[in-house]
Amino acid sequence: MDKQTLSFQAEVKQLLHLVTHSLYSNKEIFLRELISNASDACDKLRFEALHHNELYEDQPNLEVRVSFDKDARTLTISDNGIGLSAEEAIANLGTIAKSGTREFMDRLSGDQQKDAQLIGQFGVGFYSGYIVADRITVESRRAGLKPEEGVRWSSEGTGDFEVETITRAQRGTDVILHLRESETDFLSRWRLKSIIGKYSDHISLPILMRKEEWDKDKGTYVLKDEWETVNQAAALWTRAKSDITEEQYRSFYQQISHDTEAPLAYTHNRVEGRSEYTQLLYIPAKAPYDLWNRDKRGGVKLYVKRVFIMDDAEALMPVYLRFVKGVIDSADLPLNVSRELLQESRDVKAIREGCTKRVLSMLEDLAENQPDKYLAFWREFGAVLKEGLGEDHANRERLAKLIRFASTHADEGVSLADYVSRMKEGQEAIYYITADTLAAAKNSPQLEIFRKKGLEVLLLTDRVDEWMLNYLFEFDGKPLHSVAKGAVDLGSLQDEEEKKKAEAAAEAFKPIVERLKETLKDKAKDVRVTTRLVDSPACLVADEGDMSGHLARLLKQAGQ
Ligand code: ADP
Ligand code: MG
Repeated sequence: MDKQTLSFQAEVKQLLHLVTHSLYSNKEIFLRELISNASDACDKLRFEALHHNELYEDQPNLEVRVSFDKDARTLTISDNGIGLSAEEAIANLGTIAKSGTREFMDRLSGDQQKDAQLIGQFGVGFYSGYIVADRITVESRRAGLKPEEGVRWSSEGTGDFEVETITRAQRGTDVILHLRESETDFLSRWRLKSIIGKYSDHISLPILMRKEEWDKDKGTYVLKDEWETVNQAAALWTRAKSDITEEQYRSFYQQISHDTEAPLAYTHNRVEGRSEYTQLLYIPAKAPYDLWNRDKRGGVKLYVKRVFIMDDAEALMPVYLRFVKGVIDSADLPLNVSRELLQESRDVKAIREGCTKRVLSMLEDLAENQPDKYLAFWREFGAVLKEGLGEDHANRERLAKLIRFASTHADEGVSLADYVSRMKEGQEAIYYITADTLAAAKNSPQLEIFRKKGLEVLLLTDRVDEWMLNYLFEFDGKPLHSVAKGAVDLGSLQDEEEKKKAEAAAEAFKPIVERLKETLKDKAKDVRVTTRLVDSPACLVADEGDMSGHLARLLKQAGQ
């Protein structure tokens, strides 16, 4: 292929502009992104080579090399991973295949720190090179292709890029950054090494740099031809818990999640039994911008004996736990079966179940021993966890215990167990009301009688609550009852005196009620004398088994 000039997709141009202008205060992340791409490329090679061992050619040891040239002002990140064909270079480096770019752009706040985090989560990886480079050249050859089928891709990261075919003996990819005038301080072994230590220590393959030596004559350090490994290069999860520091757990989390904050909690275990595997799972402190995207891929990666296999989120974690990040490394899954077969395999299902249970235990532990932390978790992810009541029948009871509500007793953090412990003598049901906002719920006239009697009512204001109630109809043997539906039967909570009064009133008001029924016959199903009101003259309720007013409004809003 002769040299040709092609134009970036419009979104890429926008993104490039944004990356170079908004990430200025956090420039060094470009190295993390490029090393992570190099590491992904090696993972991909290892995976393809399971079926095609010849792809290793004569280089079975996968590695990343970081080198620089002071005179040319270039910084090069090389890997001997899968490499890129010319078509792949055009497709993968010139377009953004990911959906949701628009949504992502809309989310940017202008605050550099926050935006940098967002960009990290979104994974604009490769383009981050343009924070420090005014030209990036990529030279690559895909494993399995002939040396003459190499590719050179080059761009200043503005409107377009050039591609041409080259001859390249070496498999894999060199990403060559031509540093901007202002960024020459990255041409320092010490500086690069410390960035690698900060962000990429746990990359499970070796990252090599040239050794340096003091030159007496020149009075300066000079680079030698010898290379040395500058990272730990041992997959963190394979090490014994006692050998891993809190700080190492944290930086590993930040590396896999692209989060700048520390995780809220984590769990690291070796599971033995029918299926043997290691799990290292994290709960983030903050919800990602795309938490509501239920199709989002992979917070959890599956490895088999340290070979990356897949990050098909749903095969590994139920959708309602999509915020969990981490790795699972199986000791006994077959390496040489297809991903499709693996997704269906009983062993993977057992791993998924095991990991679900582990995450729930972690949450139960927080709820019990660190209620403040649990509440912080709940504020970020509670609404997502509620989806589990409908999705995960096997764990419904455990989930019901983890759900938190607002109630007439407290604005947040009320568990069903708390509620039950405060139930009045003779109270048989758990009462709730649904509304759009907490204020609307609190001010509902339907609560009057409950207030008067000192009965607690749960105030449900999340969009998923109405849906959740289809699955949560009892707790600890007590049914959940809407205060806005049907006749409120307070049963034995009503004393005899009140009951008689109510019956007498119903008798006395019969004529009025009949007239109201007649007048409202197209608008109201029924008109009743009630004991549920204390101060208000009248209120609307839904019939038992009908949609609540709140759900009807929600559906109307959604255009149903
Ligand atoms: P992501 O890593 O999230 O896919 P990036 O912007 O970091 O996004 O990279 C875009 C794509 O470019 C990658 O998906 C991959 O196909 C390709 N790529 C980048 N770096 C390399 C590399 N070192 N070797 C092979 N392919 C690469
Ligand atoms: Mg990347």
